[in-house]
Amino acid sequence: MDKKIAHYLALENNRQNECLELIASENFTSKAVRELCGSILTNKYSEGYPGKRYYGGCQHIDEIEKLAINELCKLFNCKFANVQPHSGSSANMIAYRAIMNKGDKLLSLSLEEGGHLTHGSPVNFSAKDYTIVHYGLGKDGRIDYEMLEKIAHKEKPQVILAGFSAYPYQIDFARIGKIAKDVGALFMVDMAHIAGLIAAGVHPSPFPHADIVTSTTHKTLRGPRGGIILTNNENIIKKVNFALFPGLQGGPLENIIGGKAQCFIEANTPEFRKYIENVVLNTKVCADEFRKLGAFSSETETHLFLLNTKKSYGLTGKVAEAKLEEINITVNKNMLPNDDERPNTTCGIRLGFAALTTRGLDEEEARKIASIIHHYLKGDLIKEKALSKVKEITDNLKRVELI
Ligand SMILES: *Cc1c(COP(=O)(O)O)cnc(C)c1O
Repeated sequence: MDKKIAHYLALENNRQNECLELIASENFTSKAVRELCGSILTNKYSEGYPGKRYYGGCQHIDEIEKLAINELCKLFNCKFANVQPHSGSSANMIAYRAIMNKGDKLLSLSLEEGGHLTHGSPVNFSAKDYTIVHYGLGKDGRIDYEMLEKIAHKEKPQVILAGFSAYPYQIDFARIGKIAKDVGALFMVDMAHIAGLIAAGVHPSPFPHADIVTSTTHKTLRGPRGGIILTNNENIIKKVNFALFPGLQGGPLENIIGGKAQCFIEANTPEFRKYIENVVLNTKVCADEFRKLGAFSSETETHLFLLNTKKSYGLTGKVAEAKLEEINITVNKNMLPNDDERPNTTCGIRLGFAALTTRGLDEEEARKIASIIHHYLKGDLIKEKALSKVKEITDNLKRVELI
């Protein structure tokens, strides 16, 4: 390996071990997943699908991709899947192209209220290609289902989309699915954040309510960076497959698909279920502790919660994120419901426990993390002291290269 690259790789390895990783969309993959991603599978061109490739020599690649598809369908109890999307955003673009025509109407939650860029943000392809209307959150920070129903009846969208990036509560898929049926819309679920929770049975499944489901594989599902698309509808999977190739992508990343297959097998175990239960428990313990300490944190039913740093400490999310980086705690600023700051400033931060729980973090440590963050942002804990408290926790966690 080139020395300069090796140097930065070693530094990044240290950073991952020395920091408390609280970014809700991140995780640490198993060694087996990483081995597959870095394997000779990357050498192979295999445009097309198993049994229908545009290149020779795909007999073993075909078996790996079929295995990935079968394991994925088994994990989420559905009939059809495509494991080739390069990312969650690509999966959404492909799903939209499969089920909508240009200009069709998509009813979704905005980025500001917890949705994703690809859910119709003006700076994203989704708002350029489709007509976007949004439903919203109620005062309690939860989806306002009655409002959603009213807007759906008024706007008659082709597609209703649920599944978010910064939403700490469970989603009532059955209820939204019924609304979609009533107005003749397709129901799409983007479970990028909560796929691991759904796989473990800790969050209700989008099936049988959803017509099409997209996801990333690298968040709570703990697999390689990538996307997937699922459905029970044979007509929809045909359209998805065609929209992906030849529509949008060329050769699939078969090394990543190998890593995905490994991830789906790992997620279908009692150990993974226990892991996800611990994620949700750690998240709840930490959020509860913030409120006990007098801070303004959302409640949580998932792997993440939102902390209002402006109201709690007089600090914007941007400043809080930078301050926590000084003491080796990694978070991201995030818009809160009714946020009055700009998107790159924000009123708060998003915290999640999928990554640290993979390293073996327990409840007691989750509580300590709330206390360190609270007192450091409040200004009554000095930097050296905070750093040594963080080190005490990280020293006790599994090293990321050994997971
Ligand atoms: C993370 C995320 C995505 C996009 O995933 P990328 O792999 O970063 O493109 C899409 N939808 C939701 C809800 C997400 O949280």
